[in-house]
Amino acid sequence: MKTEEEREAHRRFVQALQHEHLICAKPGCGGAMEIADQTPHAARIKTYEATCERCHAAEKIAGREQASPPWDLASITMMAEVHLLHEQPACPYDETPITFISLPNPRRKARYRLLCYYCGRHAEMNWPPPEAKR
Ligand SMILES: [Zn+2]
Ligand SMILES: [Zn+2]
Repeated sequence: MKTEEEREAHRRFVQALQHEHLICAKPGCGGAMEIADQTPHAARIKTYEATCERCHAAEKIAGREQASPPWDLASITMMAEVHLLHEQPACPYDETPITFISLPNPRRKARYRLLCYYCGRHAEMNWPPPEAKR
């Protein structure tokens, strides 16, 4: 995220991802936007189509897939720890809030998939490790 334009595009992506109120970007409009999730099945990044309820302008809001370098173990552990504290962890590369999905746990361990819907980075892990149990 370097240019102001990219920063703004990322900001709108995060708003769509978190189901926040999105306002039409057309000068002088300010209408509320209806957001439809158009992510193809099995895609790693999210794609939304936002439509202004007032001027009917359409806007495509999508992540930018970037898989390398992948998350290292330290950042995965850090994100899981933040999640465990009931706070929102963010992708260390692009600061997008990451998504935790609980997976079926065959051995009674919590297993999670961590996903960043902006860059498509993802990881799976067992959590918590035994020493973190309360
Ligand atoms: Zn508008
Ligand atoms: Zn990311």
